[in-house]
Amino acid sequence: MTKDSIKEFSDTKTAFETLSDAELNRAYALFKMVGHPRLVRLGGHMMTWAFRSKLPIGWAVKWSIFKQFCGGETLETCRPVIDSLRKRNTFAILDYGVEGEKSEEGFQNATDEIIRTSHEAKTNPSVAFVVFKFTAIARFELLEHVTAQFRDHEINRSRLSMADQKEWSLVQSRVDRIAEATLQCQKPLMIDAEETWIQGAIDAEAIRLMRLYNRQSVQVYTTYQMYRKDSLERIKAVYDLAKFEGFHVGVKLVRGAYIEKERARASDLGLPDPMQSTKKDTDTAYNEALKFMLSHTDIFAVCAGTHNEESSRLCLDWHKTATEHQRQRLWCSQLFGMSDHITFNLAKLKLNVVKYVPYGPVAKVLPYLIRRAEENTSVEGIAGRELQLIQDEIRRRKSKVQC
Ligand SMILES: Cc1cc2nc3c(=O)[nH]c(=O)nc-3n(C[C@H](O)[C@H](O)[C@H](O)COP(=O)(O)OP(=O)(O)OC[C@H]3O[C@@H](n4cnc5c(N)ncnc54)[C@H](O)[C@@H]3O)c2cc1C
Repeated sequence: MTKDSIKEFSDTKTAFETLSDAELNRAYALFKMVGHPRLVRLGGHMMTWAFRSKLPIGWAVKWSIFKQFCGGETLETCRPVIDSLRKRNTFAILDYGVEGEKSEEGFQNATDEIIRTSHEAKTNPSVAFVVFKFTAIARFELLEHVTAQFRDHEINRSRLSMADQKEWSLVQSRVDRIAEATLQCQKPLMIDAEETWIQGAIDAEAIRLMRLYNRQSVQVYTTYQMYRKDSLERIKAVYDLAKFEGFHVGVKLVRGAYIEKERARASDLGLPDPMQSTKKDTDTAYNEALKFMLSHTDIFAVCAGTHNEESSRLCLDWHKTATEHQRQRLWCSQLFGMSDHITFNLAKLKLNVVKYVPYGPVAKVLPYLIRRAEENTSVEGIAGRELQLIQDEIRRRKSKVQC
């Protein structure tokens, strides 16, 4: 058991039940490797360069980091992974993990593939949500321009250039196609959060969709990143708006994955740092937001996306005293390949649990994979936490054999 681990999450037998000894050893080697910051930084640059130069390194990535953090390269290859989660009372958030597309053709292809994930969600009971990123379907610079005109939940379109207005309408029509396809399959749609300087455009679209589709139930979830200093305030503002206008708010609550990039940009441009000053401040804000939303389940439905044991325990404690109706408003979620000790122990305790499962061609999901490696290396304790749990399980299995 890890030094500070919480009793409910310390059952490593449940956590790693489906992993063979060889798979457990592979995971151990991977987390040991990503524990070295310099190696990860160098590896990230080298992988990006190698893929751009069309060097044949796909197989090495595929059998290491890709296998740990992604469900497969296609929807079809994801199915066995998703089915095996379902056998353990865990659903899937299906994510076509492409981001940072640059061409119209790329945006169209991504939109079509996201719609295909909606069709999969319709027929596959193991899929609970469909998710997408705006940078898969819209040009980054356009999102920046639109964000610059974002105030009080709306975009002031008249301040956009004619070309941007036209391009933004195209993006909105893609969003509508995705939303309609997902809603027809009666599974909710989630929208990921990205960098602060493009998030206004994403927030505006999320509010537009929630006004349209969240009148009776929660069909659309947006994401709030609690490493942002202003997020609790933004959540309270959307609560007031939703209460006034009569719609529900779906929220995927995360701490946030772009902290180093955010800080570097703010420093380069001489802007105030938008991030919480310390990890403890982010933790406090996350738990405050979680408590606020769970005490207003008349408006909010929450998906707590976290690998943090304290935050997950908050969910567990709330679940113990909530009514059946309130319980339907909370999902707990971890990324595929991370914190199985939280996922499967919560599922065993009958909470609604869902794994975020990205899929896509290895070269296309590279930014996601690099973020996962960086997150595990840069954030104090994550790789160590995973390593310790895997070690505990290896030790447990060995002692069982010896008995
Ligand atoms: C289901 C799911 C969906 C996700 N969707 C998104 C998404 O849409 N957008 C997105 O950005 N991320 C997303 N993530 C990734 C998520 O942001 C990271 O996995 C998460 O930040 C890791 O934190 P944790 O809650 O697991 O807890 P911990 O591991 O306890 O916290 C780590 C986090 O704390 C914060 N932090 C670390 N050091 C500091 C510091 N010095 N000062 C201030 N804050 C600090 C950072 O956010 C860091 O990632 C998602 C994660 C999950 C599980």
